[in-house]
Amino acid sequence: MVNYLDLKRINDSFEPELSGVVDGVVRSGWYLFGEHVRRFEQRFARYCGVRHCVGVGNGLDALTLIFMSYVSMGRMREGDEVIVPANTYIASILAILRAGLKPVLCEPDWETCNISPRRLKELVSERTKAVMVVHLYGRVCRMDEVDAVARQHGLWVVEDCAQAHGVSYKGKKAGALGHAAGFSFYPGKNLGALGDAGAVTTDDEELAGRVRMLANYGSSAKYVHPYVGINSRLDELQAAVLGLKLDRLDEDNARRRMIARKYTEGIKNPIIILPQMEKDEEAHVFHVFTVFSPQRDALRRHLSERGVQALVHYPIPPHRQGALAEYAGLSLPVTERIHREELSLPMSPLLTDEEVKEVVEAVNSFNG
Ligand SMILES: *Cc1c(COP(=O)(O)O)cnc(C)c1O
Repeated sequence: MVNYLDLKRINDSFEPELSGVVDGVVRSGWYLFGEHVRRFEQRFARYCGVRHCVGVGNGLDALTLIFMSYVSMGRMREGDEVIVPANTYIASILAILRAGLKPVLCEPDWETCNISPRRLKELVSERTKAVMVVHLYGRVCRMDEVDAVARQHGLWVVEDCAQAHGVSYKGKKAGALGHAAGFSFYPGKNLGALGDAGAVTTDDEELAGRVRMLANYGSSAKYVHPYVGINSRLDELQAAVLGLKLDRLDEDNARRRMIARKYTEGIKNPIIILPQMEKDEEAHVFHVFTVFSPQRDALRRHLSERGVQALVHYPIPPHRQGALAEYAGLSLPVTERIHREELSLPMSPLLTDEEVKEVVEAVNSFNG
């Protein structure tokens, strides 16, 4: 049996240090606003190549707080438009809505599943204030083309880096590719906590300060509240765990790339489309290894019968969700095709070569 993602195996591989740092925090008597958070923020900022990192409660809050801050700082106004890829996980879109802004859904390019710079350009209106890029599945967006549109129209560029820890574009890491970025450290991400956690990275000092205040009840000093904030903080326990895991992130991403190479070299099946490999191998960290097939559901059943667990990212596109009913009339053929044909093969830095081989053989034995 090959599981899609074996979190227990991943976390066991950090023992005994993992239990050691958890124990240390438990016994310290100090759980919020401490050394572990301060140190993790500094190290993660340096890792991404930015000046500021603010730890928050989860990835959705990280993105929400960026937009809330832009509104709070007067850089955006309620009802302003943010262009976002239509095929993203719904959290990207919810973050825009929660800040009182209007998501405008943009088709991706089929080859990359990332936002199409050409379609982005067509969607810019008088009210467009920002574009959110999502480095979906761990593949970095082609930022030069996005930046050209953003510069021409004076747009803020916000990155959703929830699937993109450690990926880089032309030598620069995700988290440093726009004006601000939101990270998720949900347990299953490439850098995962033991529960919910997230972070905002940016070079914008004013923004970092505002995010920090809004994440802590809009407070500038204890019991002083100039802004309407929320409560969304990274805690000491998660920061200590993330600090330990950050040391191995590059190595884990390299193993993911190695597995992706084994998949692409081993899978030979005319009914299955493999993901396009990037010339620059640093441009993908394979949070998800995607294959595509018009017979996706049959392939998934076939794999399951062979003991291989595959998942779908994602079965229902955002504009077909009840939560976004006002977008239901949109025709987004590329997005809809991705949701119809995508299948995610098992992927984890702890997969063994034997397991990878088992997956390859199971995929190759599918004949529709
Ligand atoms: C996981 C994820 C999020 C949300 O992160 P949470 O920590 O679960 O709130 C946002 N965007 C994308 C693309 C994600 O994959």
